[in-house]
Amino acid sequence: MERIEATIRSNFHPRITESGEMAKLLKGRHGRRLARVTRSMGMNSLFDEWVDPRLSFSIVKVISAGNGSVLLQGNKNLKSSMLARVMRDCTQAVCFIATIGPALDKAIARANAKRNLTAAYLIERIGSAAIEDVVDEFQLLMKKRFQKEHADVTLRFSPGYCDWPLTEQKKVFTIVDPARIGVSLSSSCLMTPKKTVSGIFGIVPEGNIPYNPCMSCKKKDCSARRLRLRKL
Ligand code: SF4
Repeated sequence: MERIEATIRSNFHPRITESGEMAKLLKGRHGRRLARVTRSMGMNSLFDEWVDPRLSFSIVKVISAGNGSVLLQGNKNLKSSMLARVMRDCTQAVCFIATIGPALDKAIARANAKRNLTAAYLIERIGSAAIEDVVDEFQLLMKKRFQKEHADVTLRFSPGYCDWPLTEQKKVFTIVDPARIGVSLSSSCLMTPKKTVSGIFGIVPEGNIPYNPCMSCKKKDCSARRLRLRKL
């Protein structure tokens, strides 16, 4: 685990593609404004100060998947019909918690304390884009690792998305060790630091066509809809 985490830390670079979220934030008008406000608050480099990727994960056996739930090794029963369909052909699953650490939360609090709402908003968006990049990077590393065993990864899911209740976050926190990366969970299932993502993806034998529930989902207003399976 430490080796994967170290690789992510040393390799981490936000995906600043022309059309990406980071590009929108760091280039052009937003970028100039962000540079101005962070300078005025005495802050220097964005990523060195704010983004400290850490993650904890467990690879567990999938005992069964169907009838609206996924039974994992250790008698962990996750309740979601969509997840059960995604995991139908999986032999194993990767449960994870990833965070960029507490520094960005403090930067947002400082900006709010100075009533600089623009800065707070921009820093918040930087954090959201960064944690997504960290999780993408982790999933890509796991994909490469399992390709050597002729397997592939499925789409990933997080508690609170699709039909997987947020309260199931508690189960993920019993599968993965959150303490070693400094993450905690409140009684209302909110994670600290704020820019933390927990979730799961399955490991399927090579050749299986990964299932994308978005293609048949009736939730028309979902901003997380995946029109096609993303290439990692
Ligand atoms: S459209 Fe949204 S709710 Fe429906 S499966 Fe996709 S991500 Fe989940």
